[in-house]
Amino acid sequence: MKIAVAKGDGIGPEIMQAVLEIFQSAQVPLEYEFVDMGKWVFDKGYSNGMTPEAQNTIEELGILFKGPMETPKGKGVKSVNVTARKTWNTYANKRVFQTLHGVDTVFSKAGIPIDITVVRENIEDTYGGIEHMLTHDVALSRRFITRPGSEQVIRYAFEMAKKKGTRRITCGHKANIMKITDGLFLEVFYHVAKEYPELKVDDVIVDDLCMKLVTRPDLFDVVVLTNLQGDIVSDLCAGLVGGLGFAPSANIGDHICIFEAVHGTAPDITGKNIANPTALLMSGLLMMRHLGFMEKAAMIENAMLYTLEQGVRTGDFGDRSKPACNTTQFAHAIIANFGKAPSNNPKPVLSDLPATPTQFKLEKNPMLESAEMAGEQIVGADLFIESNEQPNTVASKLLRHTGDLFKLVTISNRGTQVWPKGSVFTNLVNQYRCRFESIGEAPLTQVDILELYKLVMDDFKICSLELLNMWDGKKAYSLAQGQ
Ligand code: NAD
Repeated sequence: MKIAVAKGDGIGPEIMQAVLEIFQSAQVPLEYEFVDMGKWVFDKGYSNGMTPEAQNTIEELGILFKGPMETPKGKGVKSVNVTARKTWNTYANKRVFQTLHGVDTVFSKAGIPIDITVVRENIEDTYGGIEHMLTHDVALSRRFITRPGSEQVIRYAFEMAKKKGTRRITCGHKANIMKITDGLFLEVFYHVAKEYPELKVDDVIVDDLCMKLVTRPDLFDVVVLTNLQGDIVSDLCAGLVGGLGFAPSANIGDHICIFEAVHGTAPDITGKNIANPTALLMSGLLMMRHLGFMEKAAMIENAMLYTLEQGVRTGDFGDRSKPACNTTQFAHAIIANFGKAPSNNPKPVLSDLPATPTQFKLEKNPMLESAEMAGEQIVGADLFIESNEQPNTVASKLLRHTGDLFKLVTISNRGTQVWPKGSVFTNLVNQYRCRFESIGEAPLTQVDILELYKLVMDDFKICSLELLNMWDGKKAYSLAQGQ
């Protein structure tokens, strides 16, 4: 079986070389096609961070094993990692965090075992990077949570939990605040849960989840979250088991899957051959099991666990009083331990599964559309306007434009209502959200909204507009705080 390999930036080439040497010594039946991808490819003028040849190869082979890739902070370069995950719709990011003997943590010392799988939604949320400056003071990020997108990742998490024989599957969310977006994710979670009555299902608000994870991590099993919350919670879980050096990940899609470590390019240690290759090796093991190479995966994993148990370590973990290996020496120590198994929790050696074909052709982009189509009508609009005037002044100007169709319902600033009621203690920024609704919730047309837009435009710069919809008689928009 042939797979695409991208060595990545920073420590990527060093750890990839170590892992492929382990694979080769173990005679893993894989062939590698190396592809050009990363910040260095972006710098050559390829805006998505990969050459067209690399894209073709990955789309043809369906499996990408990749090293970390650099994303400079702030403006300019988009993350090659995120672009890859989004372009190929690897909707589920599975990250596995387990106690490893030889990797001391407060929990391992206290005898508290950890085995948590975080499934993070990988495409949507604020990771669309759809951001605008609406005024010189106000930046806006759009957060997309969709029903079919949520369903894809949640269904994957349930299927995985069922196969793994999981005790519990938990949805982490912030639906108490983001009632519509996280509320949709949570609704889909419980909708899918009905098909898995054998699993213990619950949900926890994400801040509470963080607290519970650091106090009783042994109580959690599979946790599914939206993209940004999942990103943060999974790094927290990496800390529970010894740090980023031990956190593997699989980006699962229906056609293409990407296997990579959770950590980044570690610029502070690049080129020194001292990085810890374990997380990339563990990502490679996830890939081998995904491809059905169960026996070889168990053999390598047992050798890796035995090596860790013996106290062999790179400089980033373990007993600092013992000398550390470099990356190459660490890989050679694992190779020398092939055939050995740790005394604690050795991995069962299972037979290989039949290889699943990864070759396919798509003729057109798949359209994900939920079957539920509720009756829909427009009942108003939120106009986001620029103004540094007081709320009452803004309201008196807007009230001139309501006419026979609209009423001005509320004006808010940063989501807090400042008109008709509010407090002078609410600090203002130079942008208001002005909510116009139809009188008696009568249906409106887009032309009605356009007429309103033209009138308000005479007094204010309109930065942005959102339609207010009712679906089957229910408001499809949130209320302002205090409304
Ligand atoms: P980082 O993960 O690269 O480094 C954080 C800390 O962990 C550093 O001190 C580093 O030395 C250490 N570290 C990370 N991996 C290690 C390893 N294998 N062995 C030993 N120590 C290790 O995070 P960062 O510094 O925030 O990001 C650096 C760059 O990596 C950024 O450009 C970022 O965008 C990128 N990044 C890429 C990915 C990815 O490719 N999937 C993920 C995260 C960050």
